[in-house]
Amino acid sequence: MKSIQEALPLLQEPKKIFITMHHKPDGDALGSTLGLYHFLKQQGHFPTVVSPSEVPDFLMWLPGIDTVLNFESEPKICNKVLAESDLIFCLDFNRLDRIKYMEPALQKAQQPKILIDHHLLPDETVFAYGMSEPSKSSTCEMVYDFIQIAGGADYINDDVAQCLYTGIMTDTGSFRFPITTASVHDIIADFKRRGLNHSQIHQEVYDSWSANRMRFLGYVLHEKMEILDEQHYGLIAISQEEIKRFQVNTGDTEGLVNYPLSIRDIKVAVMISERKDEVKLSFRSKGNIDVSTFARTHFNGGGHFNAAGGSSPLSLADTVAKVKSLMPTLGI
Ligand code: 5GP
Ligand code: MN
Repeated sequence: MKSIQEALPLLQEPKKIFITMHHKPDGDALGSTLGLYHFLKQQGHFPTVVSPSEVPDFLMWLPGIDTVLNFESEPKICNKVLAESDLIFCLDFNRLDRIKYMEPALQKAQQPKILIDHHLLPDETVFAYGMSEPSKSSTCEMVYDFIQIAGGADYINDDVAQCLYTGIMTDTGSFRFPITTASVHDIIADFKRRGLNHSQIHQEVYDSWSANRMRFLGYVLHEKMEILDEQHYGLIAISQEEIKRFQVNTGDTEGLVNYPLSIRDIKVAVMISERKDEVKLSFRSKGNIDVSTFARTHFNGGGHFNAAGGSSPLSLADTVAKVKSLMPTLGI
């Protein structure tokens, strides 16, 4: 993988640009891809953002979200856009298996792939150019850096700022995780000087729940959260039946995994949810506990040191049993 600076000559003429992100996109995935989209568009390019799966409700207000294509529901159109593109930007994921059903199409695509990502252990053989910086808070922070590298600071308009703020805010847990550096606050200061209304974004993302989602949270915390206090971890397992019963939408389980960590002395939180085609796991930890290696070693996953995920081919109950039997290996 060559440096992203070496990709800049490719952007000197107007190009058709395919921009994508990981499956089940979150605030950072959609914020970074749309932030890049608004930047490239102002420079005369023809970008299209393609999500491997549905966009969650809490991000439906993002500027440009109405232009985002969903590969799962519109594979033909997405494949056409891919075939006609000159360049491919891959944001907020490190290996092609993170785009799930879109993987074969991208595997085949011959156009140069450019990576902007902050996950550990990228598959560098896939990307022609890129920046991989696991020390960065978010891919949105890296898109901001890329805009500076490309000499495009003048193009940071309100659309770019809103999108990038969203991913920085969500990936830093509203600026509280240790990865929130002074540079992150410098970026936010820059957005504020340009007139960004940050409190409106907090409201859109955090104060826009449906009543159902709130009741689902109450149910989960009261009925479903197991606290294994001697072993210092909390675990939440949710079945398909419960997801259906509470009419849980895409994105409604976002953030649930963090709740056990708010309990004193709980150092690791695990959420296990039964999806239509697999059992998905989310891990969060405090301090010096590496859940990324744990997810990679036992659950075909990965992510960051303190926030990782994976999947399991076992049933929900067997996955829960497997997690419980492996937890002592984390040494907490
Ligand atoms: P979440 O728990 O919010 O789904 O994911 C936490 C972090 O782990 C994210 O950075 C996400 O990209 C990563 N992650 C989640 N699921 C997987 C997975 O199945 N494989 C890999 N490699 N990373 C994952
Ligand atoms: Mn991210």
